[in-house]
Amino acid sequence: MDAAQPVLLASVGASPVVLIEALFRMADGPRPAALYCFTLSGQVNGLDEVRQYVEQQLEIPFYQTRLEGLQDVRSAADHAGYTEALMRWYLELQHTVAAPLWVCMSGGRKTMTAALQQAAETFGAADLYHVLVREGEEPREPAAAHQAALDGRLDFVTLGPRAARPMVAALRPNDFPLDIISTEPPARTVSVSDRALSDYLRQRAEATDALWQQRESLADRAFPALLLANASQQRWLEAPLDPSADAAWIAALPKVELHCHLGGFATHGPELERVRAAATSPHLPGVTASVPLPPEGWPRPHQPCPLDTYMRLGDANGSSLLSDAGCLRAQIEGLYAHFVATKVRYAEVRCSPNNYARDRDAWSVLQDIQSTFERCMAQSDPRERCQVNLIIIVSRRQSGDLSSISRHVALAVTAGQRTYASECCNVVGLDLAGFENKETRPLYFQHDFDAAHRCGLAVTAHAGENDDVESIWQAVYRLSARRIGHALHLTQSRDLMRAFAERGIGVEMCPYANYQIKGFRPMPGQTDDYPLLRYLQAGIKVTVNTDNIGISAASLNDNLLFLAKLCPDITRSQIIQLQRNALDTAFAPFDERHRLRIAFNRELERQLAAV
Ligand SMILES: [Zn+2]
Repeated sequence: MDAAQPVLLASVGASPVVLIEALFRMADGPRPAALYCFTLSGQVNGLDEVRQYVEQQLEIPFYQTRLEGLQDVRSAADHAGYTEALMRWYLELQHTVAAPLWVCMSGGRKTMTAALQQAAETFGAADLYHVLVREGEEPREPAAAHQAALDGRLDFVTLGPRAARPMVAALRPNDFPLDIISTEPPARTVSVSDRALSDYLRQRAEATDALWQQRESLADRAFPALLLANASQQRWLEAPLDPSADAAWIAALPKVELHCHLGGFATHGPELERVRAAATSPHLPGVTASVPLPPEGWPRPHQPCPLDTYMRLGDANGSSLLSDAGCLRAQIEGLYAHFVATKVRYAEVRCSPNNYARDRDAWSVLQDIQSTFERCMAQSDPRERCQVNLIIIVSRRQSGDLSSISRHVALAVTAGQRTYASECCNVVGLDLAGFENKETRPLYFQHDFDAAHRCGLAVTAHAGENDDVESIWQAVYRLSARRIGHALHLTQSRDLMRAFAERGIGVEMCPYANYQIKGFRPMPGQTDDYPLLRYLQAGIKVTVNTDNIGISAASLNDNLLFLAKLCPDITRSQIIQLQRNALDTAFAPFDERHRLRIAFNRELERQLAAV
């Protein structure tokens, strides 16, 4: 068949000779290479003669598909069943026939014509047309119809080419197959048992209309997929997060982790045993240290656990254990597997290569961390892959030898010179961490970070967790931090809150760690509300993270679900907004974040369809 040679699609009613007329759509142009006709289940008088004429005289293959169990279209239910079957037939042909589709609407009842036109308008056609014959000259026999065409006594009203609607571009015949009853010649007999394709198309059309109606608020929605939600999906999105019913949804949600300490993972239990078992120097004190027990009720203690006590809960892991190369790699493999298992698609992991440099230099340690994460990413199923980048920790010190601060910064600045690549574990930022108090406020380290700013490296800072709002202000205005870790005391300054929203500064909150260290309602005796919802409502790009998965004994899924207790009014759409905020404030370059936004949107669209 000539690639440009069309095929003819038509339905047939009481006058099958119209099929012959339709073949002569163009007086001098191409003749269809095949004729596909769709009929009801009853006998069509004269169809056999038309078939023979088309096949033998015109030498055009003739394919008939007959719908089982429908003699005539006499009711709305008949029409719905007919339309469903015809749509599936059309979808099938669109994919199996590699030729332009000519669609003739002249055969059959008006409702059948309407269904065929609807199919052409949905799936596309090279031409959509009617045949007109002169009053009183209607041919009754195939040869007469042929002669009328040759004599130029036919007229054609064409609607021209119809573009396929974008919403069907991804559909394949197997998505909505016809039930094949028989393929016995001369006709294939088919049926349909439901209206799934019609329902799908109607929902998509409604969603498209909704999208158009909401076009002005497009930029305000976390993901375009949310605009496609129908009324009941919309209600579901705006309903409060349910701590038990939503566990599966949270687990399946694609997520971003921006505040996660490598050394805070595998601090207890089987994960710690696995990491210790990988030690290259099993007798190191760090490998055999005793494991601190968490307070009663952990991970939801009955009273706050001070920051230094909290940090000591991680003593069995951290620098002392990760200075062993075997443990370091096992730790990374375990953390990466944890990300994949909890559907974290992008993570920025904080680490201190200088602090793990016991018998090798910090550069080698950093390369080991990067190559281990890169191996994990390369071996990961692409659909489950988590992109991991690194943030180098700068530990606060207020006295003594401060050279370590320069070393941390220099390491990050040097590593940050490598061109960003998606297959790599890239160093994307610096974090001012360590024990926060009035003597270790960001201003104290302002000039240490100049080199990072000169090279465009992003900076985040733990601030307003253990210190007050002044620490947060200094982190933003003296350290040019793009994100702040915790910022629990940001509520102390309304002006600074406004500045956060206007500057798009990210807030990395860690619900379990914040609850464990500071205590918020509903902890007994606590009167402070967890400020996350307030930040969200103020337009601040707040995110939810883990901090220390091992110490806090909580995954990212646990942290998100815990919000239902800490902020009982938080809605599902706000949970999704948190992911968008994280993609907006991640330190990865624009292209990477854009790629992730598209991937997240696809997954959300799939999830919403199942609601
Ligand atoms: Zn932290």
